[in-house]
This record gives sequence, structure tokens and C-alpha cells, in this order.
Amino acid sequence: MLNIAVAGGGIGGLASALAVARAGHTAHVLERNTDFAELGAGIQLAPNAFQALRRLGVAEPVGARAVRVEALRLLDARSGALLTEMPLDDAYQRRFGDPYAVVRRGDLHSALLSACQEHERVVLHPGTTVTGYRDTPDAVHVITADGRTVEADALVGADGIRSRVRAQMLDDGPPRVSGHTIHRTVVPMADVPAELRWNSVNLWAGPGWHMVHYPLANGEKLNLAITRDDGARAAVAGVPTSRDEVLASFPDLHPRARALLGLGREWRTWVLCDRPPTGTWTEGRVCLTGDAAHAMLQYAAQGACMALEDAVVLGEVLEGAPVDVAGRLALFAELRGERAARVQEVSTWMGHALYHPGGTAAVERDAMLASLSPDDLLAAVDWLHGHPLGGPAGHGAAQAVVLT
Ligand SMILES: Cc1cc2nc3c(=O)[nH]c(=O)nc-3n(C[C@H](O)[C@H](O)[C@H](O)COP(=O)(O)OP(=O)(O)OC[C@H]3O[C@@H](n4cnc5c(N)ncnc54)[C@H](O)[C@@H]3O)c2cc1C
Repeated sequence: MLNIAVAGGGIGGLASALAVARAGHTAHVLERNTDFAELGAGIQLAPNAFQALRRLGVAEPVGARAVRVEALRLLDARSGALLTEMPLDDAYQRRFGDPYAVVRRGDLHSALLSACQEHERVVLHPGTTVTGYRDTPDAVHVITADGRTVEADALVGADGIRSRVRAQMLDDGPPRVSGHTIHRTVVPMADVPAELRWNSVNLWAGPGWHMVHYPLANGEKLNLAITRDDGARAAVAGVPTSRDEVLASFPDLHPRARALLGLGREWRTWVLCDRPPTGTWTEGRVCLTGDAAHAMLQYAAQGACMALEDAVVLGEVLEGAPVDVAGRLALFAELRGERAARVQEVSTWMGHALYHPGGTAAVERDAMLASLSPDDLLAAVDWLHGHPLGGPAGHGAAQAVVLT
């Protein structure tokens, strides 16, 4: 069986390690931080993510800690009018086979980490920074910052949006700065007025800005984020920002939403980055996954879901005792590339066309949304929330190749 090095122990890296270990190989996770941890508050998981988690054997612990929300709601951020609502009820769950839920990032990451720690074929290497690799016909030599070289049959670059593996493979420079600034905080639900404790993912759309909130941690917390397309040109990550500054930046917010915004005490600010789709995710025995392969804006709430799907497909293509490792990795990229690129593009489109329009464009959006029935809304996300990974037998195309 193979020895597979995984650069990065985030959601994508741990999921990949688990998938290849479950396929019978040994995975070595090289993580630059001395602790395996996931920063940040909440994350939305659509049924396609739960499908992947089930295939990785961790749907149950993640599901047990997740909050099952009742709807995805889009409201006008100034008038407070409900523009559209997708129910996430039993009918939704029957259609997609799994729930839509929100979970603390730490809970998702720790479920994956525990499964890796319990798996005899996953070896974790904290405090190990990957700086590059040398690919040869017989092996890949992974170079680390402390001067070591780790020899493996394959290298999976799961080292995030500023991936070193990608930099060597594609040399395509830093990620694209979107010009969208996001402020994030978490509020105790006990502080939230009872009439605003909605068990849903809520998006208040304003001209060039929007606010999102949803419950977390068994409903004990409220995850709150507000974003403006302000043309910021420099990437910023997690800078503390005062409550007064956040409140002053969104004077037009509807009083109900503003009441929520006012509850935030400790705000942090990011300027969002992404990458345009690339057709290249592999080079010989090296492949990219997760944000390293397809970093996207968060507007479809699918970046981590895609990383989980990647992991399952990677495990599938490496099933058996592949002689042609490079060929299997090329197949992985082929199976995943088109879908991931579509999600990248849709994520950007959702920001412009659904969340941020103003004036006439907003009127047109409202009319378009009003014309859609609940069934139309579900049909629109069939391709995304549905189960591209297939049934228990797995991804059809991958399975066909692996079995022949
Ligand atoms: C505001 C916001 C909201 C979001 N909301 C959602 C959502 O609701 N649903 C959803 O599905 N997605 C969401 N996402 C996207 C999601 O967070 C990412 O797509 C996902 O975390 C990517 O995981 P990853 O493992 O590929 O990368 P990362 O999480 O970036 O992990 C990379 C890991 O690699 C390590 N590393 C980096 N460089 C090296 C190196 N050289 N050597 C060794 N280790 C290295 C890092 O320390 C890290 O542990 C959101 C993103 C943002 C910004």
C-alpha cells in the first residue's frame, strides 16, 4: 500500500488523511502549527457535506454537535421584508437524504482529528511546515522547514488558500483580494431578545453589503457576520475592530437586524480572498485539495463542504494498490475539477447578484425571487446540495476505473 504525505491538517487535510487511510494506505499529516486546531466560529454544512462525512465515518459525531436549522432566509436589510425562504424541513431532508446544519468549526475539526488519531494508519506530525517538494518517477520528496525530506508515494497539498504546494506547482501568485471586508463575532444567545432567536440561517441583503446570523453550539450562541463590498485592496486577517466602528459602518440596517449587530462586543475583521478556477490540480505524484485547489468566497457556504467531497473522491481513486499513482491523481482532478470550479463561480455570482445588488438590480432580484416557488428553490440547489458522491458504491466514474 502507499505512503501518502498530506500538507496541512485543517478540515481538508484531516478529511483527506482519513479517506486515504480508510482506503488502506498510510497517511502522514504534516501541519505547520504545533497544535491541530481550527479557528473561527460557525460553518454551514449542506447535505452534500454530511454525505461526505458519512463516507468518512464521522457524520454521527458531527451531527450530534450540529444545530439543524429550519430555513435559509433572505431579507431586505433596510426594509426588513422577507424576500425568500428555503424550508429545510423533512421534505428537504427526504429530497437530499441529509439535513442542512450549522456547526462550530472546532467541533467539525475535532471530530475529524479524533477519527485520525484513532486510525492506525494516520500519523500526525504537528509543527512541520512544508516548504516544497521534488517529484520523481518513483517517489515524491517533501521538503520541510526544519531541513528534513519526507519520502512518500504521493503528496496531497491541503495547505489552504496560501498553499506552498500550489505555489510550486502553479506559481500563480497570491490569492485574489475580493475587496469585501467582513466583521465577525459570536454573541451569547442569552443576550439575544427572544423574538430574534430564529432557528435559521438569515441573510439581510443591502446595496453592496449584507449581514448573516445563525445559532451555534446547541443554540447557546449566535454567529454574526457583516460584510461590505468596500473595494479593500489589502488582505487582512482577524484584526480586532471596535463595536462603534462596526455599528457606524452600517447605519441603514433595519432596526431588528441592528439590534442584533449592537450585541456584538468583540469584533474581528477580514478582507476576503479567493482564487479563480484553475484547470491544474496535479503534477505527477502531487495533487491539491480544499482551498489550495479551489479557494472561493463564502457566499455559497461550500468551501469546507467541497474539501470534504474532495477527500472522499481522493480516497476512492486511490483504492486498491495503484501502480500508476500519478494517473489516479489526474483522475481525481478530472472528477472534481468541473464541480469545484462551478461552485467557485456560483459563490462569486451569489455575492453580486443575490446579496449585494442595489437600485434597479435589487428590484429585479426581488421580482425574480418572488416568482420562485419553494420547489423551484430546491430544484436550483439540487446540483449543489444533492449527492454527487453517489450511493454506497461511491462515485460512479471513480468506481469504474478502480474496479477495472
Ligand atoms: C467567513 C468565511 C465563512 C465560511 N463559511 C463556510 C461555510 O459556512 N461552509 C463551508 O463549507 N465553508 C465555509 N467557508 C470556507 C471554509 O472555511 C474553507 O473552505 C475551509 O476551511 C478550507 O479548508 P482547508 O483545509 O482546505 O484549508 P485551511 O482551513 O486553510 O487549512 C489549511 C491547513 O494547512 C496548514 N498549513 C498551511 N500552510 C502549511 C504548510 N506550508 N505546511 C504545513 N501546514 C500548512 C494550516 O495551518 C491549516 O491547518 C468559509 C470561509 C470564510 C472565510
